[in-house]
Amino acid sequence: MSTPKEKPLYISIKTDLPYAYSAGRPLSRFLVALRDEAKILASRCNQCSYVLVPPRAFCTQCHKLTPELVEVGPRGTLETFSVINFPFIDPFTGLERPVPYGYGIIKLDGCDNLLPHFLDISDHTKLAIGQRVEAVFEEKENRTTALTDIKHFRVLI
Ligand SMILES: [Zn+2]
Repeated sequence: MSTPKEKPLYISIKTDLPYAYSAGRPLSRFLVALRDEAKILASRCNQCSYVLVPPRAFCTQCHKLTPELVEVGPRGTLETFSVINFPFIDPFTGLERPVPYGYGIIKLDGCDNLLPHFLDISDHTKLAIGQRVEAVFEEKENRTTALTDIKHFRVLI
């Protein structure tokens, strides 16, 4: 095995790539309902009845238009979870997320797909697959029209 004779070359680049995209009607209504009403909306397919959160214009199962939105949750079942103990850059904020924190995959009541989101781990011994959980919303004045308007999901006892 050979030993490298030169140090690797590093190139420093500063990038600034702001962008914005249209959320579309279903996702816009979902985000506004989170912000203004602390409600979780999902799309329901008129063809196959599949309920999807966050809502989309088309059914992911049968590809038909899904004009109907229905309220789901705020309670659900924890399908799997992880307690993270190493820091990482939160893509929502661009800042290092404090550790530890919990992340779970939740099946909201009335929904057919799974929603990944943060978990309250103030008592992480209560986290378990199959555990009932409930969305905890940010205080109204702190909501930003984003999925993070759901602060986290807490364990129901
Ligand atoms: Zn469908």
